[in-house]
Amino acid sequence: MIKLYNTLSRKKEIFKPLKDKKAGIYSCGPTVYWNQHIGNMYAYIQWDILVRFLKYSGYKVNWVMNITDVGHLTSDEDAGEDKMEKGARREKLSVQEIAKKYIGQFIESMDLLNIRRPDTLCRATEHIKEQIDLIKKIEEKGFAYQTKTGLVFDTSKFSGYAKFSRLNLKKQHAGSRVEIDPEKKQPWDFLLWVTNQPKHIMQWDSPWGKGFPGWHIECTAMSAKYLGNRFDIHTGGKEHIPVHHTNEIAQAYGAFGKQTANFWLHNEWLMIDKVKVSKSLGNIILTTDFIKKGYSPLAFRYLAITSHYRQGLNFSWKSLEASQNALNNLFEKVKEFTPTQTPTVPSGQVGRGLDRSAGGTNDYQKKFIDYLSDDLNAPKALALAWSLIKDEKVATEEKYRLLLDFDKVLGFNLAKIETEKIPVELSRLAEQRQKYREQKEWRKADEIREEMKKLGWTIEDTDEGPKVKRLQ
Ligand code: AMP
Ligand code: ZN
Repeated sequence: MIKLYNTLSRKKEIFKPLKDKKAGIYSCGPTVYWNQHIGNMYAYIQWDILVRFLKYSGYKVNWVMNITDVGHLTSDEDAGEDKMEKGARREKLSVQEIAKKYIGQFIESMDLLNIRRPDTLCRATEHIKEQIDLIKKIEEKGFAYQTKTGLVFDTSKFSGYAKFSRLNLKKQHAGSRVEIDPEKKQPWDFLLWVTNQPKHIMQWDSPWGKGFPGWHIECTAMSAKYLGNRFDIHTGGKEHIPVHHTNEIAQAYGAFGKQTANFWLHNEWLMIDKVKVSKSLGNIILTTDFIKKGYSPLAFRYLAITSHYRQGLNFSWKSLEASQNALNNLFEKVKEFTPTQTPTVPSGQVGRGLDRSAGGTNDYQKKFIDYLSDDLNAPKALALAWSLIKDEKVATEEKYRLLLDFDKVLGFNLAKIETEKIPVELSRLAEQRQKYREQKEWRKADEIREEMKKLGWTIEDTDEGPKVKRLQ
């Protein structure tokens, strides 16, 4: 039984898929006018955990993410310049070149952080027809009106408009957008299609005149195209609750008579010195900066997972350092537990270990599932991995198996850790030495250790049995 915190009800609810064991997920993706920073990537790591955990739990997941490459203005409230065109001017490139450059940067960051690639990554500019068709539907149903700036959604036709954000709209928007478009009936009415912008580079023909889509329509159009007009989960940052997602809900209500997603999930922010990491504030760090400073991007993934997605995180280099150390230790442990690394463990000892762990093992897996089922408590699941590592009652083989199993969700690439193959000859020597030790033939055992040394190897006797290692 998986529970997720649903912004619709402001409660944790049992996740019931719409269909069989399938989960359709839509995540609001990047606006590709500039680099995606670690604040953005923090959000995608959290949604990657969601996707991985649902898959781990046997769901067939269809993960769709949009790429905004038109219509997102410098203010979320229908004002300012198109961010893409601003980016193009800044770098003296074309809008297409800017999009290509920053889609590449985004995908590179995802790969470095071991975030799964969404099943569909869809660009707004490649779905203009779908957006126009959807706007036509909204207009036909009487939810839109024309002004000089374009076609506007009439929020007064949707009585539940303020319900999602639970905000006092009148207070929030007092006077704000009237100056931008004095013809707007309500200040919080928003543009579906923008016209009369001769300076705008990207323009398409439409029934309302030459122009471009408003920012919100792409998400409703593309989620409906790839997941249907009713799907399981919609995700995004918490700043999307009052404007972007409120407007998505209104648009879907206008077009389909109901909103789209059963669950709306929102992440808290990544901060630096208690300030939101954001391009506009200029306090950004990129995934590749970690490499430049000698950290592994996976150390940031580790750090992100130490916080719950609804709790957010205050980033510091000190905490990244601690995460890097913890990750290194985790890798060392996995290497140590890798079965090919322990050929010398005498069979009797292995047997004892397994016997003792039989009950405990199931317990670990059950706890792991329980924690993640509780609104994706990844920090607890990660802490559990450490309890497992330290648990003397669990045999190393079992620890290895469980850690690799947990890694399907945690995503540290544990299966790919390089472990050195121990030559057969060395394994034989180690086995022989162990026999001597059991027979208390200490001198002979030491002779074998010397022989191994000459070959460039050493043997250490640990709690989990002897370990063969290359001499440093
Ligand atoms: P943008 O490219 O600005 O449209 O942002 C892409 C996604 O990253 C959005 O869903 C944002 O909510 C999310 N986001 C942006 N900044 C942060 C931050 N500091 N912490 C967490 N998520 C963020
Ligand atoms: Zn969106």
